[in-house]
Amino acid sequence: MAHRIHGLGVCPGLAIAPQLVLHTQPEAVSPQAVSDVKAEIIRFRRAMAAVAEQIQSFLAQAKAEIGQTESEIFEAQFLMLQDPTLTQEVEAEIRTRGLCAQWCFVQSVQARIALLSDSENAYMQQRVLDLQDIQGQMLDHLMPGGAAQVRLDGPVILTAQEITPTQLLRFEKKRLAGVLMEEGGATSHTVLLAAAIGVPCVVGAAEFLAASRSGQTAVVDGNSGLVLLGPSPEEEGEYRLRLAQLTQARAMDEDFRGKPTRTADGAPLTLMCNIASSKEAEDVLPMDGEGVGLFRSEFLYLSAQSAPSEEEQYQTYLQAARALRGRPLTVRTLDAGGDKQIAYLDMPQEANPFMGFRAIRFCLERPDIFKPQLSALLRAAAQADIRIMFPMIATMDEFRRAKAVLREVQEELAAAGVPFRSDIPVGMMVEIPSAAIMADQFIQEADFFSIGTNDLLQYLCSADRGNPRTTYLNDPCDPALLRMIYYTICQAKACGKEVSICGQVAQDAQLIPLWIGMGVDKLSVSPIQILRVRRQIAAVDSALWRGHVQELLRLPDAGAVRTRLMELAAR
Ligand code: PEP
Ligand code: MG
Repeated sequence: MAHRIHGLGVCPGLAIAPQLVLHTQPEAVSPQAVSDVKAEIIRFRRAMAAVAEQIQSFLAQAKAEIGQTESEIFEAQFLMLQDPTLTQEVEAEIRTRGLCAQWCFVQSVQARIALLSDSENAYMQQRVLDLQDIQGQMLDHLMPGGAAQVRLDGPVILTAQEITPTQLLRFEKKRLAGVLMEEGGATSHTVLLAAAIGVPCVVGAAEFLAASRSGQTAVVDGNSGLVLLGPSPEEEGEYRLRLAQLTQARAMDEDFRGKPTRTADGAPLTLMCNIASSKEAEDVLPMDGEGVGLFRSEFLYLSAQSAPSEEEQYQTYLQAARALRGRPLTVRTLDAGGDKQIAYLDMPQEANPFMGFRAIRFCLERPDIFKPQLSALLRAAAQADIRIMFPMIATMDEFRRAKAVLREVQEELAAAGVPFRSDIPVGMMVEIPSAAIMADQFIQEADFFSIGTNDLLQYLCSADRGNPRTTYLNDPCDPALLRMIYYTICQAKACGKEVSICGQVAQDAQLIPLWIGMGVDKLSVSPIQILRVRRQIAAVDSALWRGHVQELLRLPDAGAVRTRLMELAAR
């Protein structure tokens, strides 16, 4: 019988594969005495050599596939690992204290992290992340049952206390069958990345790590949140059957490839994609997306060692837009902060970063970062359909100031004789309740709205979107959220402007009929979800659902909304 654990299913789908456990947390290491000190030193040296080799191969891969900036991370890590004082210190500890290599290594690394952590310097902060990364990789080799001791060539279920967005970005996509994390909520950025790849993911169960080991088979049901660790042959057989049924349902989605997105009664909708890199833009047309509704540009910054230059960004946006062959590319300007901390940006340490100096607030104070991005976008837009969207707008003053910086950049480009698009569409994310409440005012000055429900919901209910303990408050069926969305849609439509939803709820099967009833123009979803969502839209009668909107908005709570949605869908 398997060890059954109930977590929070945050990316739908089913996966059955061996686990790969990442020991990212030093707290899991305890001081074990060793009887053969010499053998322990050899074990340590072997691990160092293996990690060095691993980093070298990441380096070669990053240079070939991603670019110079990403590869610099691995260069820095390689140099840190080669530091002779680190090796000497750890070996001396093993020799004199007779303790296991993992413990001695963690002590040395933690001492270095403690020294660097006091520094405000962005370069030093980046080194802390590098040291943590190296530590995790070494523990994979040194911990009993660590990931590196099991030969796993095929797809795996990545298991860890927490995986950062950057760690996930680095993992080879085709080897990722599923993700299990003890931490994280439904819309934390690591989860969104997993969703973008279409990987089932369950989070928020404290006992995952204790019951996991690399190489053990796991079943991950991303819909129900049920996880089976070490299933019996009968259990595994049952889930393999379900997997086959799911694959069959996916084949039915294929009937909708190349078809227009229309409801059962013929109302047209546009199905856009959310992406985080120019590489992902290449998936949009093959997945049958109709453009990009949200390019989370901060991931260009997150995967680099220093801010990408204007020229690099220009190339990236152009490359992404070209992959879309004339379909629109909506780029959200830098949304750093919250759970996307970027060390080299010198963002202040804050007690509450989700409520702090982030996204547009930061950009307005940092023209050195903001202006090159706007300039790159304006230049690229001269050659392709690119639109600009500002994140985390809370007040009209912020929106106006952001547009003023954009005008300033346009004037500078004009003065320098550089071609750019002067009438680039400029929209905003509606993801802070104040913006939704003032939507009637904002829409006078914005070319379009995109409703970011991931943040809108966390700010509306004052519940961290990444905290599994407050997940019950981040319920997308909450009528407070639904009322805000409906009001925002109505204001945009009254002005004849376009409105889309780009938060996770845009692809929520239960809520899609309601968005259609509310009259949304576009849904922006993970590329992998396009055909499934199009198939669902084709079964929805928009006129019928329009008639249900008011009734649903008057319900008292999320539970009542969910029950009624189910009743209506069953008809
Ligand atoms: C949102 O907040 O809904 C959104 C789409 O932006 P992000 O998830 O990147 O914060
Ligand atoms: Mg957001």
